Amino acid sequence: MDLATLWYLTIGTLLVAAAMTLWERQAHTQRSRELGTWTVAYGVFALGCLLAMSRNLLPGVSGPALTNVVMLLGYLLILHGVLRLDDRALRPTTVAGFLIVIGAAWFIAGAGWASLLWNHASAFPIAVLCALTALALFRSPMAQGLRSRPLAVVVFACHSLTYAVRTFVVPVIVSAYGDSVLPIVAKLTMYEAVLFTMMMPMSLIALVREEDRARLLTNARTDFLTGLNNRQGFFELGPERLRRDGEKAPHALLAFDLDHFKAINDTHGHDVGDQVLRLFAKIAREVAGQNAMCARLGGEEFALLLPGAGVEDARKIGEAIAWRFTEAAARNDGLAMAATVSVGLVGTTADQVDLSELLAAADRALYKAKLLGRNRIEVAEPVKIAAAA
Ligand code: GH3
Ligand code: MG
Ligand code: MG
Repeated sequence: MDLATLWYLTIGTLLVAAAMTLWERQAHTQRSRELGTWTVAYGVFALGCLLAMSRNLLPGVSGPALTNVVMLLGYLLILHGVLRLDDRALRPTTVAGFLIVIGAAWFIAGAGWASLLWNHASAFPIAVLCALTALALFRSPMAQGLRSRPLAVVVFACHSLTYAVRTFVVPVIVSAYGDSVLPIVAKLTMYEAVLFTMMMPMSLIALVREEDRARLLTNARTDFLTGLNNRQGFFELGPERLRRDGEKAPHALLAFDLDHFKAINDTHGHDVGDQVLRLFAKIAREVAGQNAMCARLGGEEFALLLPGAGVEDARKIGEAIAWRFTEAAARNDGLAMAATVSVGLVGTTADQVDLSELLAAADRALYKAKLLGRNRIEVAEPVKIAAAA
């Protein structure tokens, strides 16, 4: 394959990348800035490729100098888009300053050292920008936990390495074997460029898609009114949480049901009812702490999973939540009402805990609390038998 074919292939790939990214942009409105920035970057790269192919048509060093500056602008835009994923950005003055310095370097040193600049030195800023992009992706809170993050980091790190080799290793090889190796290096560089221009957009789009999927999953597991887990979240994340905290540890589950909630709605209206639900959720979350898992299972029913907690600790937590809820509802200006909650508690030391079984036991205790007059906590018999997971 000759060099020109590889150039055309790269330009084609870049245009496809730009079109694909623009297409994705419509589906991921929350990342339209980033995808838009990358689309422009691919266009800039394609322009850079055209300039590179015809650089000798321009007078003096202006051809290679312009090509180099345009290519660097493309890399800067990629980095800028990556930083934007975490609400960071490259300052326009930094970008302009950087490009002016590179352009000036070409016009000062270009006349005498054109070949050295084009073949080796101009690769260095690219190596640095790609290393910075790989680092930004590696440390990005947005990309944390995403499966496509390592891929994106490796893509930019490999490109950075290729250009570092061009800067520091290739001159050594050239001095040993002469200029005859330069065409081979040029072909290898172009071949790597084709691979990079395919992998870069794929990995960046994968990041955005995966983030979107994770957001949808979180939404599906979250109760809109209170921000707690919903029933789906409780049953999907609960077992995982228990496993994480050791299967052999004691665990406890509290089931809550607000008392006479229908009457609250009827007397004060549905909006005030919603406010009461949010108040309860806020207090439950605050009292239970980080390690617990709070969920609104439906209506005015809540559950609190306490991995690693014994029955006595769980009882204290349940009582504290109930007490603070009643206090806050009475004090709160917008509410100023008598609101109470009934609680059912169950503990277990079973190796394998079935969450539905645990919840059923807590619910039975809760039912007893309701029968015994509400506004109280009842404890169920501990769940002992290991259930099949
Ligand atoms: P008990 O003390 O026996 O638990 O009586 P209760 O009135 O609390 O129980 P019941 O099951 O009869 O009523 C629950 C009420 O909760 C009925 C329903 O309208 C209300 N509810 C369910 N979801 C929501 C919601 O999202 N917002 C509001 N404001 N009310 C809700
Ligand atoms: Mg109920
Ligand atoms: Mg109720």
